[in-house]
Amino acid sequence: MKTLLPTSTAGSLPKPSWLAQPETLWSPWALEGEALVEGKHDALRLSLQEQQKVGIDIVSDGEQTRQHFVTTFIEHLTGVDFENRRTVKIRDRYDAKVPTVVGKVSRPKSVFVEDAKFLRQQTDKPIKWALPGPMTMIDTLYDAHYQSRKKLAWEFAKILNQEAKDLEAVGVDIIQFDEPAFNVFFDDVNEWGIACLERAVEGLKCETAVHICYGYGIKANTDWKKSLGTEWRQYEEIFPKLKESSIDIISLECHNSRVPIELLALIRGKKVMVGAIDVATDTIESAEDVANTLREALKYVDADKLYPCTNCGMAPLSRDVARGKLSALHAGAEIVRREIS
Ligand SMILES: [Zn+2]
Repeated sequence: MKTLLPTSTAGSLPKPSWLAQPETLWSPWALEGEALVEGKHDALRLSLQEQQKVGIDIVSDGEQTRQHFVTTFIEHLTGVDFENRRTVKIRDRYDAKVPTVVGKVSRPKSVFVEDAKFLRQQTDKPIKWALPGPMTMIDTLYDAHYQSRKKLAWEFAKILNQEAKDLEAVGVDIIQFDEPAFNVFFDDVNEWGIACLERAVEGLKCETAVHICYGYGIKANTDWKKSLGTEWRQYEEIFPKLKESSIDIISLECHNSRVPIELLALIRGKKVMVGAIDVATDTIESAEDVANTLREALKYVDADKLYPCTNCGMAPLSRDVARGKLSALHAGAEIVRREIS
């Protein structure tokens, strides 16, 4: 029987301190060579075990083998020079020194297929694999070659499609594209961002998702959120077109956010991963907090299309806090399952 309200996480989970410096983004690896390869696999196993122990239904690798959700993927492509860095403004928000696109981008070989195979061997539960979305990728680079955001995004979409097909072939059930940039560049999203995403999922038979959030709980993001006013209506700009798109699931930030929940009505018919866990605070939600967010969402999302989830990745949190939040997610979903079944 299919689980009602299957729980999952948006993506990253904290890494053990023996693998990488905790509570840090882009944190350097603490191991090298063969020990690093083995350490990443051990961490992936641990992360999976913790997800399963607290009852998460759709599990993931917790991004234990990647340093960063965008950079690690790009590192495996040709055409990008990581030595030659330029300063750009990421999502119109904060400066970062980023690699430069110096030639035609391509993917010489699969980036994550071995990790996905490894995860598949460890569990019978449905697995979700996150990839960066094309628009978020171009936003993390300086482009000295294509000189066109749209063109570069389209090239990345083709590459992501190859990667997604490899992941599907080794048994990944849901492929998710992380597109926080969708919350910033609305005109581009509507003109070509969603089209690029559809190119990235072309021909896939597994389920597909897009994750659109207000970012990790880092200062640049929390400061930005403070500037957004009392109502966050960003989703409103892109929902009509997303609703018409071929993407199956939309993953959103809902808990503790100022997103008016009724905006979910604009994507009625889509499956929705409802963010019911705030990743920008160490305060652990109660099961009842989670249940309340899910109940609100249920007014606009049919029960068989609602997937309780976290607002975003939890990489910058401590392992204890992340574990507590996952337990709360499971417990909150349980409460609502009992109410509606
Ligand atoms: Zn996110």
